[in-house]
Amino acid sequence: MSVEGLRFVITGSSAGIGAGTARLAAERGARVMVSDVNDELGEALAAEIRDAGGEALYQHCDVTDEAQVQSLMEAAGSAFGGIDVLHNNAGIHESMLTSDLSLETMSRDIFEKVVSVNLIGVFLCAKYALPYLKESEQASIINAGSTSSIAGYPNCMAYGSSKGAVMQLTKNLAVDLAPYGIRANCYCPGSIHTQMVDKFLEAAPDPQAMLNTMTLTHLIPRMGAPKDVAELVCFLASEQSQFINGVVWLIDGGSLAWRGTLDILGMGGAQ
Ligand code: NAP
Repeated sequence: MSVEGLRFVITGSSAGIGAGTARLAAERGARVMVSDVNDELGEALAAEIRDAGGEALYQHCDVTDEAQVQSLMEAAGSAFGGIDVLHNNAGIHESMLTSDLSLETMSRDIFEKVVSVNLIGVFLCAKYALPYLKESEQASIINAGSTSSIAGYPNCMAYGSSKGAVMQLTKNLAVDLAPYGIRANCYCPGSIHTQMVDKFLEAAPDPQAMLNTMTLTHLIPRMGAPKDVAELVCFLASEQSQFINGVVWLIDGGSLAWRGTLDILGMGGAQ
């Protein structure tokens, strides 16, 4: 999938899926603005991409901070002469913030914090990227949803609600931005092996049982890797996907395609 020459802004891209996408897009000739709240990892990633012959810069951006979002888009616009692809990847799960995950114990502050990063952050980034996307010949917004956008999971109230809303926001963006030729798509990963999943597992009362629940529903019996998702993001940005707009694209190893676990198929345990 060709992303050569496309100018990417990827939020929350110091680690995990965002970092995987930054690496793959740059390897394929995209110009990438890495941004995150973790400056040390973000600077290191941009340097790693440059050392490998790619084009990348890093800018700090907390997606809940409107001024920082505006300045991120201005920095990318001025460094690259525009923005073609906004990858709204930054996201958090409540288990990264607290162990009070039940309806009885979760505070309003935690719920709002998750919604603020996962949903309001997408709105703000789209808003401030818009002037640049309008000028692009191949503009798209690619939003990180989740299988939690669609199905309920234990201990995921704030995360699931915010990701459900991201899925719907994507469709509204696709409609409202169609007159400018800007596409908006959302992808929904199953379990992808990153620090977010590690922290979610650590917070579970029985991490092994939770790991089984997460992987035994994947018809491909493993966790996904950041590169699996990066390939999809590059496709959704590419020229080859120009008739794809407003979709919710599952990338979940088949987990939402059925109602069962792999032991029923004799395919055994988690990896
Ligand atoms: P990750 O490994 O935790 O990476 C997320 C990055 O975002 C981290 O570097 C994090 O920094 C940063 N971040 C946190 N708050 C931020 C903010 N306010 N502004 C900017 N950056 C911020 O997560 P991931 O697993 O790669 O997930 C990436 C996206 O995919 C998220 O939207 C997630 O919901 C979605 N997703 C992941 C999975 C999965 O299984 N991994 C499944 C479905 C959907 P710190 O580490 O310093 O907080």
